[in-house]
Amino acid sequence: MTSPLSADQVDELRTELERQLARLQKSMKVTDEALRTVELDQTAVGRLSRIDSLQNQSLSKGLREREVVRLSQIRDALERAQEGTYGVCTECGRGIPFERLFVFPEAPECTDCVS
Ligand SMILES: [Zn+2]
Repeated sequence: MTSPLSADQVDELRTELERQLARLQKSMKVTDEALRTVELDQTAVGRLSRIDSLQNQSLSKGLREREVVRLSQIRDALERAQEGTYGVCTECGRGIPFERLFVFPEAPECTDCVS
C-alpha cells in the first residue's frame, strides 16, 4: 500500500521530522557532554559529590537511551518518506491519519497497533 497522505502533507511532515532531527542531534551533544563530565567527576572529591554524579550519570544514560530510540524512529520515518511508504502503518499496513502524524511525525504505526 502506498501512502494515504497527499504530497503536500508528506512534505510538511518531512520538514517537521528534519526539524526534530536537528533538535535531537543538538540535545544529544549536550548529553554527550553530561556523560563525559560525569566520568571526569568520578575521580574527583568526596562521597556526596560521587553519589551526585552517579545519579546524574544514570539520568543521562536514561536520557541517552530515549534519544537513541527517538533518533532511529525519526530516521526510519524519513526513510519511509523517501520510499513513498510514509503514513502507512508498519504493523497492519493501513493508513495512519494525518492528525496522528501531525502530533507524532515519527510514529511508525497507527493508534490501533500502538502497544
Ligand atoms: Zn496499524
